[in-house]
Amino acid sequence: MGEKRTVLRTKVGIVGGGPAGLMLSHLLGQAGIESIVVEKRDHETIRTTHRAGILEHGSVRMLTEGGVSDRVLRDGYRHDGIDLRFGGESHRVDFQELVGESVWLYPQNEVFVDLAAARERDGGDVRYAVTDTEVLDQATDRPKIRFTDDQGADYEVHCDILVGADGSQGICRRSIPADVRNDHFIEYPFAWFGILTEAPPSAPELIYANSDHGFALISQRSDTVQRMYFQSDPNENPDDWSEDRIWDELQRRVDGPDGFELKRGPIFDKTVLKFRSYVCEPMRYGNMFLAGDAGHTVPPTGAKGLNLALADVSVLFQAIESFYASGSRDLLDGYSDKALQRVWRAQNFSYWMTSMLHTRPDASAFERRRALGELSGVVASRHGQAYLAEAYTGWPHA
Ligand SMILES: Cc1cc2nc3c(=O)[nH]c(=O)nc-3n(C[C@H](O)[C@H](O)[C@H](O)COP(=O)(O)OP(=O)(O)OC[C@H]3O[C@@H](n4cnc5c(N)ncnc54)[C@H](O)[C@@H]3O)c2cc1C
Repeated sequence: MGEKRTVLRTKVGIVGGGPAGLMLSHLLGQAGIESIVVEKRDHETIRTTHRAGILEHGSVRMLTEGGVSDRVLRDGYRHDGIDLRFGGESHRVDFQELVGESVWLYPQNEVFVDLAAARERDGGDVRYAVTDTEVLDQATDRPKIRFTDDQGADYEVHCDILVGADGSQGICRRSIPADVRNDHFIEYPFAWFGILTEAPPSAPELIYANSDHGFALISQRSDTVQRMYFQSDPNENPDDWSEDRIWDELQRRVDGPDGFELKRGPIFDKTVLKFRSYVCEPMRYGNMFLAGDAGHTVPPTGAKGLNLALADVSVLFQAIESFYASGSRDLLDGYSDKALQRVWRAQNFSYWMTSMLHTRPDASAFERRRALGELSGVVASRHGQAYLAEAYTGWPHA
């Protein structure tokens, strides 16, 4: 250890201040269990980064009943269904009627604002804008996190339990020796070209469109800002796309005899989002536990990533709370298996939605017709729709 490295002692050391890390730290704080979160980005960068937008009912309950904030109920938008659109026609899947649940449109940056404010309100220890994070001694009963803070001071956190909540590009998962880690990974031959536009909503709920020109998602953000995506080549360069070209591409993917027309406006953000499915098994190494994108990634079609991160935290929090209440490690030992049950269900759902709604660049006419057969089979069947509704709104939390 360098001479000037300051040692901090805490119960739970958390790498990553995304939804998983901050929610876990919040729940632990509510239970009187101290933690330190180290996050490499600054508050403003996280607050202004656009990512997920759909919250399952279980995620909403974690925010409201978990004492974070009830702003999601006031400023979010409850959606009771989605439209599946193919052959130029829309088919509504009515979540309330099928399974009695809804989802909420509430951007991930607002979730971050709520969680960060709750940590500040409750005196939580969150260090933003840190550099040179390292994890060590994970397999011992005194794991450690090293980092340099935003003033250049070096620290070493000594904890009982280390949590890797540092997302898909983080260091925690990669610190697990290759011979005790199984990486399950697939990549898809397409991506989403995403835009944010200043325009009124084109539809009251999300539209998932499968067309002969490829997939499109017509989504919303607020009364004045909308989020839309269309299936593209993973190597597409957003700078090659003018506003008119983007709007024409989106429109032709939702065209149909009903004359549905997108409401256009200025586009102020363009990104290409690559599609991957990944699971790290087990989601644990010694006294280090992975939560959220650090342990798994799903393609965004099923809107599962953020929700899965919060579901992991729900299981992990109970395990850590039980450890401090009883001294028993049973729930900690069972964490990975329990979290992975939901992870693999969500992997399957995200894969299913992706393959049913997108067209692979090399798809044969048979594959194209088969996917349309699958879609029409789902919307024609109450059981097919109910499976989709149950998975999309979220299985019950642990
Ligand atoms: C464009 C886009 C759209 C999406 N849409 C949806 C959607 O509609 N619905 C949905 O559910 N999900 C969606 N997702 C996925 C969702 O955003 C993630 O699943 C979610 O952010 C996972 O939360 P997390 O806390 O596990 O990880 P993250 O949010 O990635 O947080 C990890 C944090 O760790 C920090 N970190 C990384 N490395 C270090 C380090 N070495 N030291 C310290 N800190 C570190 C990072 O800065 C980051 O803040 C989308 C993602 C993208 C990119």
